[in-house]
Amino acid sequence: MTSEAVVGVLAVQGDVREHLTALTACGAGARPVRRPDELDAVDALVLPGGESTTIDKLTRAFGLRDPLRERVASGMPVYGSCAGMILLADRLTDAAAGQLTLGGIDITVRRNAFGRQVESFEEDLSFAGIDGPGVRAVFIRAPWVDEAGPGVEILASIGAGPAAGRIVAVRQGNLLATSFHPEITGDIRVHRFFVEMVRSAARV
Ligand code: GLN
Repeated sequence: MTSEAVVGVLAVQGDVREHLTALTACGAGARPVRRPDELDAVDALVLPGGESTTIDKLTRAFGLRDPLRERVASGMPVYGSCAGMILLADRLTDAAAGQLTLGGIDITVRRNAFGRQVESFEEDLSFAGIDGPGVRAVFIRAPWVDEAGPGVEILASIGAGPAAGRIVAVRQGNLLATSFHPEITGDIRVHRFFVEMVRSAARV
């Protein structure tokens, strides 16, 4: 590409700065998005980790919900981590009262799925499309994918322990979602994977 893709990070709540840093380290232009006109100016978007119910309420309050759904429907590349995965899910197993998702990925997601004892943990995951050592994955009150439709590519699952086999990373078209937070580990390979998706989408 001659001009670098600009990737926004939805900045109504959550760990925005960490994603901006990781995207910048991948060579992407990265900027926060809080308003519809800022959304118009980006080629792709990251939905950060945080609290999905709060992000849902704030995107509605800021008039971002409909523009976001339109951009998702028109093929904008979006990466959601943790709460962001919840926002990209077509269905939730246990939505809070009145909670909406943006949708886009044909998955059913269970919030806070790993339970209290293991609310937060780390694991090195094998991730389809990312070579080298396992991807360091940090799970913080993380969701998992209960069901994935036939068009969904499963990129990573938990390897061992009581949650072995649970799906924690998926892709459908230009949408990518992980249960975990690569943005806080210093391992930028998932962000690089996403920026590559953005660059390929821009070439089509
Ligand atoms: N449990 C949070 C939610 O439901 C997600 C946690 C996170 O993003 N670290 O939104």
